Amino acid sequence: MAESTVEIRELDPFQMAQRQFDMAAEHLHLDEGLRKWLRSINRELTVQFPVIMDDGRLEIFTGYRVQHNLARGPAKGGIRYHPQVTLEEVRALAMWMTWKCAVVNIPYGGAKGGVKCNPKEMSEKELERLTRRYTTEISILIGPDSDIPAPDVYTDARVMGWIMDTYSMHKGYSVPGVVTGKPLSIGGSLGRNEATGRGCMYTVCQAAQHLGIPLEGATVSVQGFGNAGATAARLLAELGCRVIAVSDSQGGIYNKNGLDMKALLQCKQEQGTVIAFPEGDKVSSTDVLEIPCDILIPAALEAQITAENAPRIKTRILAEAANGPTTPEADEILADQGVLIIPDILANAGGVVVSYLEWVQNLQEFFWREERIREQLQQIMEESFQHVLHVATEEKVGMRMAASIVAIRRVVQATLDRGVYP
Ligand code: GLU
Repeated sequence: MAESTVEIRELDPFQMAQRQFDMAAEHLHLDEGLRKWLRSINRELTVQFPVIMDDGRLEIFTGYRVQHNLARGPAKGGIRYHPQVTLEEVRALAMWMTWKCAVVNIPYGGAKGGVKCNPKEMSEKELERLTRRYTTEISILIGPDSDIPAPDVYTDARVMGWIMDTYSMHKGYSVPGVVTGKPLSIGGSLGRNEATGRGCMYTVCQAAQHLGIPLEGATVSVQGFGNAGATAARLLAELGCRVIAVSDSQGGIYNKNGLDMKALLQCKQEQGTVIAFPEGDKVSSTDVLEIPCDILIPAALEAQITAENAPRIKTRILAEAANGPTTPEADEILADQGVLIIPDILANAGGVVVSYLEWVQNLQEFFWREERIREQLQQIMEESFQHVLHVATEEKVGMRMAASIVAIRRVVQATLDRGVYP
């Protein structure tokens, strides 16, 4: 964790996101004015607020909510609780949400929120007070028609429930559509919890099929064993893949014969970390990226694959379940090595796709069965993958550039169709 912190600060994730955008804008010969508009942040709110801790102390926290672009619909994007949250990081994540929603063609703009805190050292009551006060502070932006938060790193359905309740208390009536990723009992959707990992699995299947790699016996390494990483690993194992290495914030575990997923998930749940798993060798969470495998899934934080370690990465498919795990310099190195990259805005879009399905169910106050959710998710992910692959072939560019091209074209079209106000 300490290493990645330094890396993130040196790179500045927002500059990284802008650089990715600039390259695609150049390829598209985008008009100068549009280029300036789309590379800037539309709205950003910084809040400092007090929380009474369990020992009676008053602690002051800093939080953000950033809306990058609203051309295609209400702002959408998760809320992250992490000690290393910065405004630059939240800006980058908001911009990536704009492209992510556009690449899978769901009618949203991009946003992100974050609170700089360490939820692992806070009690449930402290987290609840923090969430309720942060929700109140950003309530000038959020709403079912304006900006809809969701879970992200170290936030979950429980936190979304508090957001829904706080917002509803202010309104005086229940507003389930203000947030997605909620508990089922208050308007959450079946299938939302596993959606990011499931969507990632669908794109990996498409990529493997394209390259002619049989999934049966294909080796998988996963950095980050949270919601997205653990689900992707579990589903790929169910399809016959051999998950040989996984890591979380405490370190990693490696077994060349494959890790028993059921036992590993139980270990993570009971002991809080994969390093407690007895059937494998302990490795670091950066080592996990360098273990030769067929499918590598970074599912932790930004800027994990850099110019420094990219030459040592030996994989055929890189499926980015995390947001921004690969720096632009590393991208070039991996392309030279012939790695097929499924870029973050495509590989991890399953979460926001099912968020969209949840929001639609909330607005119509009618809920669907899980099969319908899975079918729609699979269809959207497969069609989006094939569309991006087609553009990559047509334009003779890599998958990241192709995904950016698809996304930017859609946002540009919406901007032109709306015109510039006033
Ligand atoms: N935080 C997730 C992401 O980065 C989900 C966002 C959402 O569902 O709005 O895509």
